[in-house]
Amino acid sequence: MRAHRLLPLASLLSIGCLDHRPPTLSLSVPETDRVYRQALEISGEASDPSGLASLSLSVDGGEPIALPTDGAFQHTLDTSTLPDGVHLVEVVATDDTSLANTTRSSVAFASDNTPPELRIAERSLKTAQGEVLAVFVSATEVLVEPKLTFLEREIPLYPLSSTLYRSLIGISVKQEAGTFPLVLAATDALGNTGERTMEVEIAATDFEKGGYIKLTKKQQENQKDDSKVTYDRTKREAAWAHVDPQQHWGGPFLRPAEGSISSPFGKYREYSSGVRSHHLGLDLSNEPGTPIYAANDGVVLLAERLYIMGNHVIVHHGQGVASAYSHLSSVAVSAGDRVQKGQLIGTMGSTGQSTGPHLHWEVVVHGEKIHPLEWEEESFEPPDDLVFR
Ligand SMILES: [Zn+2]
Repeated sequence: MRAHRLLPLASLLSIGCLDHRPPTLSLSVPETDRVYRQALEISGEASDPSGLASLSLSVDGGEPIALPTDGAFQHTLDTSTLPDGVHLVEVVATDDTSLANTTRSSVAFASDNTPPELRIAERSLKTAQGEVLAVFVSATEVLVEPKLTFLEREIPLYPLSSTLYRSLIGISVKQEAGTFPLVLAATDALGNTGERTMEVEIAATDFEKGGYIKLTKKQQENQKDDSKVTYDRTKREAAWAHVDPQQHWGGPFLRPAEGSISSPFGKYREYSSGVRSHHLGLDLSNEPGTPIYAANDGVVLLAERLYIMGNHVIVHHGQGVASAYSHLSSVAVSAGDRVQKGQLIGTMGSTGQSTGPHLHWEVVVHGEKIHPLEWEEESFEPPDDLVFR
């Protein structure tokens, strides 16, 4: 421009009507630091005193797309066909003069149309009746509401880190052995949905059979009294259903009382009432008054007298895991208390449906009673050597 002022007046007059000013152009995407999938709205404004001859938009240097030349513009870009990553949108405005003054403006954005890649640990593909199936899932990105479906139940997956998730599934003693599909579904933060189906093998467990339990007349009546059985069950099922995404337990479970194992988990027994069932806890027998301790850290969800279970305490350890203590002679905690591993919660007794002083100890995972002794060795933390497939 400076050179023009030095031109003689005549020459200045001859070119004075030329417009050397390029068009003004502004350009924006909703948020430049966001990642997009599917549609991206690009808007802006272009103007020039001499009018615009053309306005066009291109992505990553590709074929230009003509935009209307009457000022403000808006363009919906389909990003679903773009590869994941950073892209550049460039808009070019050219004015309607013989000099064809041009302004270019560009803006970058990132796109992601790829579903998260979901992988399941090899060791998560095998379990047995009455045990826990610990499903470890590795994902290529943060998952939104990941879900597992197994044996027609939907079980939540909880994050252990931004890319590692865990779900604990209790396998009923009555679940038939065989191979069953485990379906994993999750979306990433943008809504790209990934799904994975794997076959999980449930092995048969050889539970002990036999044993005859003689009940008193009153105990027999209680066991056959649906209202009492239902009362206990309703109270207990409400506790199993408690949702707490935080893991309270740390490390393996403590055996909650000293004593001999008078009835193992899973044993198939017959009562004098005619009822036949698997024993879904572990019985520890000792002197009345033997202290009973919380098997791990948790929150007391129930501490009250039930008909069948007698004085009963349920401790919730988070993420669907609970432990339950029955037939206590005294209870040292109240519902709502936080307890630590090894904290006294009561004393051994024979209240409720019991034939002698013992602790009936249960570990329950998402409502299924599973082998408590498994938890004395395992705390289901992810091992370092997980192999995913
Ligand atoms: Zn028992």
